[in-house]
Amino acid sequence: MPPAFDPATRDALLARVRFYRDLGLTEFYRRPVDPALLAKLEAMTIAAADPQLSAPQSAGAPSVPRSSAEWVGEHEPHVASQEDSAIAPRKPLTAPPAIPAVIPQKDRAAALALIREDLGDCTRCALHTGRNKIVFGDGSPTARLLFVGEGPGADEDAQGIPFVGKAGQLLNNMIAAMGLKREEVYIANVVKCRPPGNRTPEPEEGNTCSPFLFRQIDVVRPQVIVALGATAATYLLGQRQPLAGLRGRVHAWRGMQLIITYHPAFLLRDPRQKKEAWADLQIAMRELGLKAPAKS
Ligand code: URA
Repeated sequence: MPPAFDPATRDALLARVRFYRDLGLTEFYRRPVDPALLAKLEAMTIAAADPQLSAPQSAGAPSVPRSSAEWVGEHEPHVASQEDSAIAPRKPLTAPPAIPAVIPQKDRAAALALIREDLGDCTRCALHTGRNKIVFGDGSPTARLLFVGEGPGADEDAQGIPFVGKAGQLLNNMIAAMGLKREEVYIANVVKCRPPGNRTPEPEEGNTCSPFLFRQIDVVRPQVIVALGATAATYLLGQRQPLAGLRGRVHAWRGMQLIITYHPAFLLRDPRQKKEAWADLQIAMRELGLKAPAKS
């Protein structure tokens, strides 16, 4: 029989569980409970159920945030850019996998195919229920430059290829402006199935799917990764931070160089920011030793 909690303890526990769920933590493991400890806890519960004892106790109980939005608000005094505010203020918490050995270039296509096989007809998270096609990735398995987006939209879901819609056309233009062909780079997303209505992936979805992205990146092992938007940056870095503080520089990331810039969909909504994004891409070009093609 589970112990009966007094209402204040039960409410505090419920609030805490909700808080963890907001952070994407949904699985809890219980160690075997020492019967002596259980007896002690039960005695405490009975004492807490006594109104004379419970009143002062609940008044002094630490307040539990209802959602991580409160927590982020407290710790991130920041004027959110429009793109930042589009991201649910939640923090994925999975630890990144260890960095594996470099795969020889000749084996990289096969290694990616193995990851795709492993992904299979995925039902690991709720996103599979609404998808038409899994959008695994696209481009050269030996690319020196790899772009990470957030997740497929309607066009990508229909075709099974990342960045083929309007945002994809802009990304193609960005790649061309760097003097590269789309086939020379690799493109993948944090989640491989379309979130309904193109919403931001839930932490549980992102945490379930992003290990496949990490594996793809570890196979391609590009010199430079460009994270497109806050979701890509959040899952690559393992923590949510305002995009403004992450842009404009090179981050050392798993032995590669990570550059963070705006998502093309955001740039379509606010074209004034294209200048900033171009400055970020120029950092990537500098690291790759690329020169912009002469204008014709
Ligand atoms: N937006 C993304 O983040 N990824 C895509 O593949 C398409 C649009």
